[in-house]
Amino acid sequence: MSHDFDIIIVGGGAVGAALACALKNSKLKIAVIEAVSPKADIQPSYDDRGLSISLSSKNILDNLGLWQNISPHSNPIKHIHVSDQHHFGFVRMDAESMNVSALGYIVLARELGKAFMQTIEAAENISFFCPASVTAVEISALSASVTVNIDGVDKIISSKLLVAADGAESRTRDMLGIKASVEDYQQVAIVSNVLPQRPHLNTAYERFTETGPLALLPHSQQRCVLVFTVAANEAEKYLQMDEQGFLDVLLERFGR
Ligand SMILES: Cc1cc2nc3c(=O)[nH]c(=O)nc-3n(C[C@H](O)[C@H](O)[C@H](O)COP(=O)(O)OP(=O)(O)OC[C@H]3O[C@@H](n4cnc5c(N)ncnc54)[C@H](O)[C@@H]3O)c2cc1C
Repeated sequence: MSHDFDIIIVGGGAVGAALACALKNSKLKIAVIEAVSPKADIQPSYDDRGLSISLSSKNILDNLGLWQNISPHSNPIKHIHVSDQHHFGFVRMDAESMNVSALGYIVLARELGKAFMQTIEAAENISFFCPASVTAVEISALSASVTVNIDGVDKIISSKLLVAADGAESRTRDMLGIKASVEDYQQVAIVSNVLPQRPHLNTAYERFTETGPLALLPHSQQRCVLVFTVAANEAEKYLQMDEQGFLDVLLERFGR
């Protein structure tokens, strides 16, 4: 049975794009289908958030030849400080004492996306359909048949293997009737950048609070990525606060 591709990857986010990059220069003919242009401000995967990646993820990106382009937009995590609000005791981790160059890195999601897309677009064995949406999927024992909507026109392509990498709320998963178990923590993480008065010294802080974890992660230009977890029914209150009000709550929660 002949197929248009060996593998069709639905979704060009971090998971789909990393898989495609890992398969570049292989003998496999690959299609990546992504709904939103990487240059769009509304791109769901590659916006201006700082992503914390582990040392092993950095090593994977290095092996894929991507790290050299991402590295100038990254900041190493050299120390980690974990604490529990209203309790004594804390845990400290240190890159030097663990004989590693860094415990992880903060990278700009947009730059990660740029590095993925450059590699995908340059790879001769990868066809990148974007912006293009998968609207229907059919699976048989030998083949996957995928309907792709490009500029309002439906095109059907087939492959031996279909990879659903279209995110946590995967429509492909739903179309195939694959069940997922979801647990709602009733928490919302507010993510932003803050500029501390003192240098962050490449230290990542994680603090467990009554409403969930609070993280301050060392970013480039001495900024810190803030991940502030609050009860879901209070999120709007925090989002409506003015800057000083928000910083006051943050200082109180983080501890001076
Ligand atoms: C605010 C925030 C902060 C985060 N911080 C971190 C962090 O610090 N460290 C970390 O490791 N992780 C972090 N994460 C999680 C991380 O971003 C996700 O785990 C990761 O993006 C998941 O990648 P993915 O490729 O599975 O899905 P996504 O990034 O959601 O990508 C799915 C892609 O599929 C496309 N798509 C969807 N439907 C279709 C369709 N029908 N046809 C074609 N394309 C389609 C979408 O446009 C999208 O580009 C964070 C997430 C958020 C929201």
